[in-house]
Amino acid sequence: MTAERPPAAEGIPSSLPRPHRALGLALGLLIFILAAFSAYRLSERVAIDRMRQAASHQLDVLAAAIDSEVTRHASIPAAIQLNQEVLALLRSPPEQRAAAQPAANRFLQQLNDNLGGPAIFVLDTRGRVLASSDWIFSDNLLGVDLAYMPFFQAAVRGTPARHYAIDPVRREPGYYFALPIRDEQRGWAVIGVAVVKSGIRELERRWLAQEAPAVIVDNNGIVLLASPPEWRYASLQPLPGESLVGLSREQFGGQAVGRQSLDIALDGADAGIVVRLPKHLREDVAPLPGGKPYLALSRNLPETAWRIVIFADLRPVAVQAGTHAALTLAALGCLLLGALYFKQRSRLADSREEARRLLERSHQELERKVEERTHDLSNAVTSLQREVSERQRAEQTLRAAQDELVQAAKLAVVGQMATGITHELSQPLGAIRTLSENAAEFMRRGDAETAARNLAIVGQLTEQMGGIISPLKSFARKSPARPAAVDIGHAIDAALFLFDQRLKKAAVTVNREFGPKSAIAWCDQNRLQQVQVNLIGNALDAMAGQPVRQLGFTVTARDGGGIALAVSDSGEGFSDEALAHLFEPFFTTKQPGEGLGLGLTISRDILRDFGGDLLAGPAPGGGARFVILLPEPPSESRS
Ligand code: ADP
Repeated sequence: MTAERPPAAEGIPSSLPRPHRALGLALGLLIFILAAFSAYRLSERVAIDRMRQAASHQLDVLAAAIDSEVTRHASIPAAIQLNQEVLALLRSPPEQRAAAQPAANRFLQQLNDNLGGPAIFVLDTRGRVLASSDWIFSDNLLGVDLAYMPFFQAAVRGTPARHYAIDPVRREPGYYFALPIRDEQRGWAVIGVAVVKSGIRELERRWLAQEAPAVIVDNNGIVLLASPPEWRYASLQPLPGESLVGLSREQFGGQAVGRQSLDIALDGADAGIVVRLPKHLREDVAPLPGGKPYLALSRNLPETAWRIVIFADLRPVAVQAGTHAALTLAALGCLLLGALYFKQRSRLADSREEARRLLERSHQELERKVEERTHDLSNAVTSLQREVSERQRAEQTLRAAQDELVQAAKLAVVGQMATGITHELSQPLGAIRTLSENAAEFMRRGDAETAARNLAIVGQLTEQMGGIISPLKSFARKSPARPAAVDIGHAIDAALFLFDQRLKKAAVTVNREFGPKSAIAWCDQNRLQQVQVNLIGNALDAMAGQPVRQLGFTVTARDGGGIALAVSDSGEGFSDEALAHLFEPFFTTKQPGEGLGLGLTISRDILRDFGGDLLAGPAPGGGARFVILLPEPPSESRS
């Protein structure tokens, strides 16, 4: 039997072919990466724009603060050069200056008091402070040489100057405005320099108070104010040592500057640029640790030549952009999952529909096959019925033929016996004839008594003749086989009776041995008699030329039920060839006309019909031995 393969599910593509799938995966991955990247960049740009706006606004505020704090005194030096006391002091020869100084000092003090500034002073053309608003303090500036200050050097050459500086006396930072004082009487020659110092303490306080990281750098790139304060006096770019020394001396009252560099270039920072502060800057300096990216936005303050730079930490932007990219990915993932879900659903629906169709198709196929098989089966049943009835008919024919054969065999036996019977009947017949003639004579003589006696003897003789004929008649009768409980002894007697003449003539000794149990078997009396007649006839034939003629009947009960009847003779026995073919139809060793070779075949068929059998073998004394096996009667027939 070959195993049937399930039919391939047609029309349900389980998946895309492998190369297409790989391509689809790569494309999907690319889309994901692009989407995440775009989301990241968009979020970053928006956040940076927002940051730039906020920083720009902050720059405005800071610029306004610086303007108000630092440049509000810018016009004061112009007023000083108009003051007569100051002019008198500057015009007077050196030895008379001491006399003119107090008036100028007072004027400057009053002016300063009105302005609320830290200091106003006047320098001679050599750079020494001749008069100062702080003259009343012990640590005043009077006599101090400020010739090295850039603002002085510019002003004494006739150019107004302004810049950040630290004074050498109090070491206070400030913003200095310097203006040359010209004398009309000397043909507008520069006779001194008027200087106003703007304090930046307030600015410094406000600067440090604000949260946003920011620095103010001067035109040399030195950080003047910083939040975080650690960066004060650092330089934007590394500067050569000698210029740093010069700057320190001239502008910063010896304060070391440019020791550390922020190492950033601010080109284009007006519009905002991304800078990365160097790693070597201290990591723990809040809020601007080194090594991180920042958005730097700067603005030039034309009034002061300063530049404000604001830094905004870009890390939250990166985190936010990363979050947005992740959210985009998640949204895309959800979309993809959703799409997959719907695709899967539709595919499932498709495959369910396909499965339903397949089921329907196979159902139809099954129905068709069942119909076909049913048709075949009913055909087979019809032909079987036909065959059965043919067989029955054949069996009937066979049985009829068998009956005919049995009958023919019987008639053959009867024919064989005809001589003996004739002989048997001729004696009483002759006696009857004589007795009846005598009876007629006695009647004629009037001796009715003797005539009657003779007739009575005739009657007895006819009865005797009937006794001879009647078993023969019942044997020769054509009767259907009907099983019944049969007494084996009676059957043997009936058969022997038929051979009475032959047995006597051949002087055969008949031995009968019966077991203790009653020998009753399940068979047809007439048929069993037929079998025994066959066996006895054959035995008599076999013993014909033998000196000792003995016929034995032994009946024994079989272990499993039923009886075994052995018929043995002292005949010539079987040759090996005869023993091999005994039961074959038409096997005979007898002369033509003496035997047909059907007796044993018919006998065995008869016994087998009743559930018995016929076996053949040599007899212990040398002759032949046949054993008839028959079943016992069924239990219901015995009760
Ligand atoms: P038939 O008697 O017409 O030959 P059977 O079928 O009765 O046919 O017997 C077949 C043969 O079996 C006989 O020809 C004979 O050779 C052999 N046979 C039968 N019975 C005996 C017997 N008792 N002893 C020896 N041979 C026998």
